[in-house]
Amino acid sequence: MRVVTHDDFRQVYVHEPAAAPGRIESVLDAIRSEVEFEEAVTAGFDDISAVHTQAHVEGVTQRGLYKIAALSAGGAIQAANIALSEPCFALTRPPGHHASADYAWGFCYFNNMAIALESLRRNRKINTAYVLDFDMHFGDGTVSILKDKGYAAIHNPDVDDRKEYLREVEAHLSNAKADIIGVSAGFDNHVLDWGGVLLTEDYQAIGRMIHQVCRKLQIGCFALLEGGYNHQVLGQNVLAFLRGLQGR
Ligand SMILES: [Zn+2]
Repeated sequence: MRVVTHDDFRQVYVHEPAAAPGRIESVLDAIRSEVEFEEAVTAGFDDISAVHTQAHVEGVTQRGLYKIAALSAGGAIQAANIALSEPCFALTRPPGHHASADYAWGFCYFNNMAIALESLRRNRKINTAYVLDFDMHFGDGTVSILKDKGYAAIHNPDVDDRKEYLREVEAHLSNAKADIIGVSAGFDNHVLDWGGVLLTEDYQAIGRMIHQVCRKLQIGCFALLEGGYNHQVLGQNVLAFLRGLQGR
């Protein structure tokens, strides 16, 4: 399986949990032997400005975060394009699901998911999309950007019981009708992370559900790293999810 990443994502570009030292390395160490890495390329200004206002882009630039945020968005666009032929994961940061068109919070700057889907749409590679956001936090930025565009169905599960959580994800996925599935993959809902709900094997189960729906609909899927802050378990959780995405 191909994973889009870049050495620059190891940078501690700002002092917040998503940018903490060792976070990307913990995932790299866990998945290295099972994946093929592909180097992320910076998103074009046209792709970023298709989603964000000029004032927002200027604000991110003034904070010295344009370069790293545009590289993360570029990795998302690549993963989305690879997804047209095989499943793909973008191991990038900063995350993006709390970034709206003109405002961002929660360690996010540019909305990687919206930028990737809009890029596919503008290039006429998809007409519709289904977004599963299993980060413990509601992906408000993705919803605010995509909700009025009318081509994306978005599911943010909000359940405290892990078995019920999996049932809800499966029930929603079984109704999915789209040309691609984009996953905002945040691992902060793990039992040993902030949310305390899901087990490592649950991420594999979710990956497998996505794999099955993709097979049924004959469509592709990509996933983007959002949250996940316990470096002791993050790598294993990502690995489990990627195995599931491959139908394992
Ligand atoms: Zn989160």
